[in-house]
Amino acid sequence: MRLLVRGGAVVHAAGVDDADVLVVDGRIAALLGPSVRVDADEVVAATGCLVFPGFIDPHVHSRDPGQTEKEDFAHLTAAAAHGGVTTICEMPNALPPVVDAAIFEARAASREGRAHVDFAQWVMAVGEGDPDDLAGALDVGAVGAKIFWGYGLDRRTGGLLYNVADVDAADRIPPPSIGDVYGACVVAARRGGLVAAHCEDPAIIRAGAEIAGEGRGYDAFLQARPAVAEAAAVAAAAEVSLATGCRFHVVHLSTAAGVAAVRRARASGASLTAETCPQYLAFTAADFERLGPVMKVYPPIRDASDQAALWGAVADGTIASLGSDHAPHTLAEKHLPLERQPAGINGVETLVPFALDAMARGRLSPVAVARLLSTRTADILSVAPAKGRLVVGADADLTIVDPARVVEVDQAALHHKQKLSLFHGAELRGAPVATVVRGHLVMREGELATPAVGALVRARRSAA
Ligand SMILES: [Zn+2]
Repeated sequence: MRLLVRGGAVVHAAGVDDADVLVVDGRIAALLGPSVRVDADEVVAATGCLVFPGFIDPHVHSRDPGQTEKEDFAHLTAAAAHGGVTTICEMPNALPPVVDAAIFEARAASREGRAHVDFAQWVMAVGEGDPDDLAGALDVGAVGAKIFWGYGLDRRTGGLLYNVADVDAADRIPPPSIGDVYGACVVAARRGGLVAAHCEDPAIIRAGAEIAGEGRGYDAFLQARPAVAEAAAVAAAAEVSLATGCRFHVVHLSTAAGVAAVRRARASGASLTAETCPQYLAFTAADFERLGPVMKVYPPIRDASDQAALWGAVADGTIASLGSDHAPHTLAEKHLPLERQPAGINGVETLVPFALDAMARGRLSPVAVARLLSTRTADILSVAPAKGRLVVGADADLTIVDPARVVEVDQAALHHKQKLSLFHGAELRGAPVATVVRGHLVMREGELATPAVGALVRARRSAA
């Protein structure tokens, strides 16, 4: 099967060149000068478009199995394909959570035929966890160990406890401590592996909640989760990373203090990288008046000064990766009052359009978009060089973008299960018009191809 993407401008690590992309049997076979003529079974016209290495969303929660009233894998990956994402990385906290190689393999097998894009999988490092279980899952290709620092687990279901006091002590697995982070890093480091964490220090959050007291509203919400909780957790993680040599990844970085802590860690030689998400780059606490409690996410969306620091960190490479933290809940849950509703919002389908709009506004170059959403993300997750590179021999994962098309986001028209988006009503310039996964055109001009061809992507790394 030969597919030719003709007439577009290809985005490389080094720049943008006019080139046709020839795909043979799912791999990139050649990048051809515009005057070269070749035969193909299928031609995609890309005149006026940018052709990116397929975009990777490193941070999604499909809720499947266990909480499919919130989301499921077919909806999630359909939304990804529509949003120009060619590979998603599923967080481990569906029910039961992915904590060992056996669950990893069973979960991957259960996705077959329902995945509209390729998918990778994180493994969960838990308090009281067995190091051999973690090692086993990393050895079969989990992209990294995710630690929900500060969250206990319900022993009966494996579900995350947002509020530890909700469950009797006998029925809960205690939240991971800094000692558990250290243990996971020792296991992962031996494999050249990666540990990623939600970095908000639980003891500081407990103190913050006491200080906020009975206060209500968004100001009290922020006071209860102070920025220092993030910075302190990043600083502690950096020490563990330095001591163990383990690569450490801070997910959803959200504060100026956190950015400063990441900078200090990297300057000290720690092998520490960071991700942020569109919700932190697009919105501030001031948007609470307009959006209301649906904008509740952990860590919280904060002030303009935090947002400016995050943009600075994106610009200078301190932040290496953009992820959506697609974390759906039902509409009923997201319409509860701020204090009672669960944290998390949809985002997989708006991740790429958000970045393209930033490109149109001159905040990101095309090369920076490729780096943040593809190349560096693939490196961190150890799925390169098959993923994340538009080079001969790589998987033919391509996102074809019309940089001039303006789309007003209509949440009712999005493809995930819960029709809710913080970007509802926003006009975003730049739209994915085709998504190609290993040479399969999985989405073209808003039409989804069937059958679903997505397959498991295993991390490949050399042991340290
Ligand atoms: Zn998350």
